[in-house]
Amino acid sequence: MEYIKSKVRDVMDFPKKGIVFKDLTTVFKDPRAMHIIGWDLSQLYRDKGVTKVVGIESRGFIGGSILAFELGAGFVPIRKPGKLPADTIRASYGKEYGTDTIEIHRDAISEDDIVVIHDDVLATGGTMAAAYELVKSMNPKQIYINFIIELGALGGRANLPAEAEVTSLITY
Ligand code: AMP
Repeated sequence: MEYIKSKVRDVMDFPKKGIVFKDLTTVFKDPRAMHIIGWDLSQLYRDKGVTKVVGIESRGFIGGSILAFELGAGFVPIRKPGKLPADTIRASYGKEYGTDTIEIHRDAISEDDIVVIHDDVLATGGTMAAAYELVKSMNPKQIYINFIIELGALGGRANLPAEAEVTSLITY
């Protein structure tokens, strides 16, 4: 984990003043870090029977796809409004910098699914809470929540549903 941490780039005042942005492009461009992320993420869910990994646009698509591939699961995108072509459901939420809406295809998850929802960074938890609400409305058997990085000082975990099992590879 120290190796991954050493590859995370802190960008000050992005996308606005006062935010320390955890930039993972410097992790993803490193072959060894990519390999470690794929292995460590998948080890968390090996025995859980996961059938779908839901990734949140856009940085959640990277780790989410790797995790889906490693687990032999399908991948489902959650996207910003107007990007998904078929019938969608949507949720709105506040985040560390601004307000946003996300969408998922209405037929993306079935009641037989065991789902991991993945994003790169847990900040306030608003994005993931909205994603959870969308996935939950489709009644899968089980929902796990996963991040590469958790910004502990922002207390985002408290904004996530108590019944969800939340796991992060790295906590700051
Ligand atoms: P939140 O809803 O506050 O938990 O924000 C999570 C989303 O915003 C994730 O998709 C992150 O990629 C992004 N994000 C928020 N704050 C940061 C940060 N300080 N560094 C990197 N990404 C962030």
